[in-house]
Formats: sequence, C-alpha cells, structure tokens
Amino acid sequence: MNNSILTIIENVIKNNGEIVAIKSGPHSLTYRQLGEQSDRLAQWLCSNVEDNEPVMVYGHKNPQMIVCFMACVKSGRAYCPVDISMPADRVKDIAEAIGNKTILATENFELNGFRVIGKNDISRICDQAAGSGTAFPVSGNDTFYIIFTSGSTGKPKGVEISESNLSKFAEWSVNLAGARLTDEKRNHPIFMNQAPFSFDLSVMDLYTSLAMGGTLVCVDKAQQQNTAEMFEYMRNSSITCWVSTPSFAEMCMADHSFDSSLLPEMELFLFCGEKLGKETAEKLSERFPQAKIVNTYGPTESTVAVTFADVTPEMIKKEGPLPIGQPKPGTQLVIEGEEIVIIGDTVAKGYYKNPEKTEQVFFQTPDKDGKMQKAYRTGDKGFYDGKNFYCTGRMDGQIKLHGYRIELGDIENNLMNISLIEQAAVLPKYDGDKIKSLVAYVKAPSMEGSFSDGKKIKSLLKEKIPAYMVPKNIKFLDKMPMTANGKLDRKKLEAGLI
Ligand code: AMP
Repeated sequence: MNNSILTIIENVIKNNGEIVAIKSGPHSLTYRQLGEQSDRLAQWLCSNVEDNEPVMVYGHKNPQMIVCFMACVKSGRAYCPVDISMPADRVKDIAEAIGNKTILATENFELNGFRVIGKNDISRICDQAAGSGTAFPVSGNDTFYIIFTSGSTGKPKGVEISESNLSKFAEWSVNLAGARLTDEKRNHPIFMNQAPFSFDLSVMDLYTSLAMGGTLVCVDKAQQQNTAEMFEYMRNSSITCWVSTPSFAEMCMADHSFDSSLLPEMELFLFCGEKLGKETAEKLSERFPQAKIVNTYGPTESTVAVTFADVTPEMIKKEGPLPIGQPKPGTQLVIEGEEIVIIGDTVAKGYYKNPEKTEQVFFQTPDKDGKMQKAYRTGDKGFYDGKNFYCTGRMDGQIKLHGYRIELGDIENNLMNISLIEQAAVLPKYDGDKIKSLVAYVKAPSMEGSFSDGKKIKSLLKEKIPAYMVPKNIKFLDKMPMTANGKLDRKKLEAGLI
C-alpha cells in the first residue's frame, strides 16, 4: 500500500469528491474542486515558474491557501505558508531566505523585487485549462513544506519537513483520531482549525482531516476576536474534532456557554504546542463529558507531535504534571541528561539553508534495531516514570506565550537593532507556572522612559516581529545589572533587584 499523503488525498478526491474539504466563513471548497484547481495551478507553476525553489504562500484562512499548498507539492515544489499576522519586514526576510521570485498570495500583498500572483490571478488560473508542463509531485525525502519559527538571533528559522515526514505523521494522526471517534464520526470527521497555517499545529488538523476525507472548519482571526460569533459558527459547523493549543481552549472556557450543549457532536479534543494544565483538562472533561481529551507533544522540528496521552481522571488526580505519554510508532524518545531527544521518521531534514544551526541540534543515530535514524535535541526538559514521558520545561530562552513559540533572544536582538536602544533583556512574567506576559528591560540613554517612549519602542518593534511577540511592558533602566564576568544578570532582573 502506498501511504504517501498525496496518494491518500487523491483517493479521497476520487471517491468522495462532493464532500466539503475546507470551509472558512462563507467560503468552501469540495474535494473535487480542491483536486481540479490544484492540478491546474500545479500545471501553471510548471509552465510559468522556472525556479524550483520552494514557493511562499501568503494569506490567512481562505480555502485557496490549501489549493496553493497542494499545487506547489504537485508541481514538485515545497511551499512555505506565511500568515497575514507576520509584519512586512519579517515576510521580506522569509521571502529572501526562500529565494523563489514567485509568491502566491491569497490576501492583498506586494513585495518589491518579487512577482506576486494574487488572489484573482490564482482564481483565474484555477478556473482555466492547464498548461503543458509535466508535474512531478514531491516524494520521499523531497521537502513538502517549510515552516518558519522564532530564531534566537532575531531572524526566523525555516524547518524543512519532507514528504516522508508528513506521510508518517499523518498515518499516525489518522489512527490516533480514528480510534477515538465513533463509527459515524470516523466516516466523516469535522475538524476545527484554530492555528494559522504558518504554525505547525495546523498541520495536525489540515492533513488529518484531508487524509480521513473529513471537513476542515477554519476559524479565522476576526472570528476568534468575537466569541459569540465564533461559537455560533462552531455550532453550525457541527465540529467533532477539536485541534488547538490549551490556551485557546482556556479562552473559550472563560465563556460558560462553551460546553457540550453548544457543541453536541464533539467527540475528541487534540491538544498540542504547550503544557496542558490539569485544571484545563478537568474543566474541559466536566463541560464535555462524552469527549476524549488527548495531550500530544512535539516540536515543529519533528512534524507537529510525536507523543500522545489519553487524559484520564486518574492522571488528573495524580501529583505532578500531566504526562505527554508514549511515543508514536516510528519514534523513540530518549532522555539525555535531562533533555528530551527525539529519534525517528518524522524528524525534519533540518533548518532551511542553515547548516550551522541544523548541525547544532540535528544528528544521526542508530535506533534500537541498529538502523540509522534522524534525531533532534529538543531543548525540552523531561523524564520517564517507567510508563509515561513528561515534559517539565525548557533548558533555554524559548518560551510559549498564549500558545505561541517565542525565542526571547529574537525579541532582544530586534530591540537592540533599534538605534535608540543600547542594551535589552526580555523576561517572562508568570502567573503560577504559566507565562502571562513579557517585560522588556532596556537601556536607552536618549529616552526619558515615559509612557510614550514605551509606546514608541513597541511600535518600532511591531514593524519587525509579530504582535504576539511584542512585550506588554517596557521598563527603562539607567544601567543593566551585570554579572562578575560581564554578562547580563538575568537573575537580578528576575528577582527585581534593580
Ligand atoms: P512548536 O514548535 O511551536 O510546536 O513548539 C514546540 C515546543 O512546545 C516543544 O518543544 C515544547 O517545549 C512545547 N510543547 C509542545 N507540546 C507540549 C506539551 N504537550 N506539553 C508541554 N510542552 C509542549
């Protein structure tokens, strides 16, 4: 049996063409339309784009995004999703790093020096007869997608996921979801998509749904800012499988109407991306007694998720954090020192065009059968209790804020690039063990440190990094605390000893 994700999706297109594959607000697309349109766009790419480099796909949650993804990979090119939440400077950095002069954009977008194929052009191409080029889809070790994530140097790094990585992931995620749904829902699951396509969490809902012949219901940025409207949309969509960060579910649960009477079809909650708190899991199981809750764990560097734990009442009652559970088939987790190392078939090819960073964390190692496998040092602290794995935090300056992955060094370097700032440090502010916001400490001798100075720094920063990375508070210091060997003394800042 050929388990390639593209073959599996082609089979769904062939057998269930009239089912809605993607829905986003008023827009929707059937599997047949997805197949036809992506074939035409793939042909067009083969005939009109000489470059074989990956293609940036810019936009938000329009179903056309998925047509573009499919078209790229069918034409033998990887795609790189970039969401509208990314500031222009960062989009430019990514476009330059990718190197392809052609960009597909499903929302208004322009970039000097690049040929942007906009929404209307894409629609026209998708509606017309195909060109004459021959399409050879990506396969095996070819790159399927590149997702950029925060980099400690101040520039994002692109994680390169191969076709084989994604196919292995989807094979597992389909089994994971399928085994936890009733027959009726398994035949046609309705997945919710919360994360923008530029975050790898979206890979879980998108490809699990497509491979199962399900319908993906996208909740866009505007809807996420209007709870009542969002709930109504979810209810009308009869969602059966929820995929989000725990933070998003917590936000929904802040509203008391979020329960099984609102979403009676809900059978499964799949979480990933950050710690799932016991309180969140407990509250959720009270609100949705009929639904299963699964805590999955993994980094973008190993294709979304590599472990899973079915959350049980016993787990919630037990001392300590919830487990991240067991590795998926094809993956082995090893604790080296206190660090979680992932070995297996979903470990990424590396960071795009960045061999130095790749070598720092990716390596080859024999698995338990002696076969060489790719491995990735996660930077996560963890342990194994003989039954389950646990993730207990980070060994470095990477954090999660409201579910977003952020390198504190990314913000610090971008602060330091502002000419007014001489020194900068960014620290998380905790509420219990959860990060609630970020505080930036800056030395900016030419500024008074007024409220409007803080606002100015924030707006300069917003041009460089996504809004979710901009610290809530900017504190001006005359002098930064230093250690005896001349390094910034973060401990003193953390303890407020300044
Ligand atoms: P990302 O690449 O954005 O998916 O972020 C990956 C990081 O999120 C991991 O290296 C962990 O630090 C954290 N993470 C993901 N899933 C979990 C989980 N279930 N529990 C605790 N931390 C998690």
